[in-house]
Amino acid sequence: MTGAPSELIHDYTEISWNSPHEFKIVWADGHESLYSLDFLRLNCPCAGCQGHGEQIYKDLPEDVAANPKESAPPAEVWPVGDYAIGIRFSDGHETGIFSFRFLRRYCPASQGDAIE
Ligand SMILES: [Zn+2]
Repeated sequence: MTGAPSELIHDYTEISWNSPHEFKIVWADGHESLYSLDFLRLNCPCAGCQGHGEQIYKDLPEDVAANPKESAPPAEVWPVGDYAIGIRFSDGHETGIFSFRFLRRYCPASQGDAIE
């Protein structure tokens, strides 16, 4: 990923459910990303889950990837301002705000790409 203006990287045109366990974001620059709820629950960026250190990305364990635990409903996704989405997980946890910067950084289809 090179040269895309950051305002396109950090804006989206569509969020839709790909399955009860996974939703899709179509970004303003045309890139599509799939996010599993289990992955996002595991990597929830809120202070309660991450503490105050730098966030370390965690891979989804194979058994969870094969047998997803989180699903919608009960999980919900909603926009937060114009910079993020909020997610309420099936365990009721809802303090994680997933910024578009965070989501693009951890896009499963472009792991390792630097998004600044
Ligand atoms: Zn959290």
